[in-house]
Amino acid sequence: MTFKSVALKALLGFTIFTSSFAASSATLRIGTEPTFAPFEFMNNASGTYEGFDMDMIREAVKRMGHTPELHQMGFDSLVPSLRTNSIDIIAAAMTITPKRQRAVAFTQPYYDAGQGIMVLEANRDRYVDLKTLEGARIAVQIGTTGAEMAVKIPGAKVYKYNTTNEAILELRNRGVDAVLLDKPVLGYFTVVNPRAAKGMVVQPGVFGAESFGFAVNKQNTQLLKGLNEALDAMRKDGTYDRIYAKWFGTTERR
Ligand code: GLN
Repeated sequence: MTFKSVALKALLGFTIFTSSFAASSATLRIGTEPTFAPFEFMNNASGTYEGFDMDMIREAVKRMGHTPELHQMGFDSLVPSLRTNSIDIIAAAMTITPKRQRAVAFTQPYYDAGQGIMVLEANRDRYVDLKTLEGARIAVQIGTTGAEMAVKIPGAKVYKYNTTNEAILELRNRGVDAVLLDKPVLGYFTVVNPRAAKGMVVQPGVFGAESFGFAVNKQNTQLLKGLNEALDAMRKDGTYDRIYAKWFGTTERR
């Protein structure tokens, strides 16, 4: 072995050792914003994070031989945290957008969604789509695709909240006219919390076509490859369908 190859080996070993993601078994830090049922939420009874994303990412990480470790933060902190290597993966129903793709790398899409509109029952015929929301007061979650859509509505007054629960509460308190948020989250809220959702309805339309992906640091190509392979395998062996059916009651995609 030449001096050069020893030096190279030492250098490589060092690089791998200091990398946020090691090739051998490692704890992978997963950033999430758990006010987004059925994708990610805190089960207060058990004190654990649950949801479609949580099941999917835990399974993918385990298949790679690593240990998942959940980190909770504001939705708008996720991308900066990934870029500074404070976390290794984002699992937060994050829509793959060109703007985010410039900052982070996404896995293959694992869920298709779109925005939904929630209004007071009394306004069911008044605010039905993006056109009728012109000039209205709209609650959104900060840093989301819903927030981006809302600010483009002519004359709309957009109120940004840290959590989806605060946005919905504001509608209940009549502080806003509508909530613009990922439709499956609004739908799940009305079904699971019928008391809290009393007097509010989700309009039938879906606005925009979005796909969720897990995100990693652009430098972490090995992790990205591993996650995509795990997702492929989960689609093939029925695990994806099983998790999908657990949270959405069907294996039929929108
Ligand atoms: N899918 C939306 C987005 O990516 C909202 C995600 C969320 O609030 N967790 O912006």
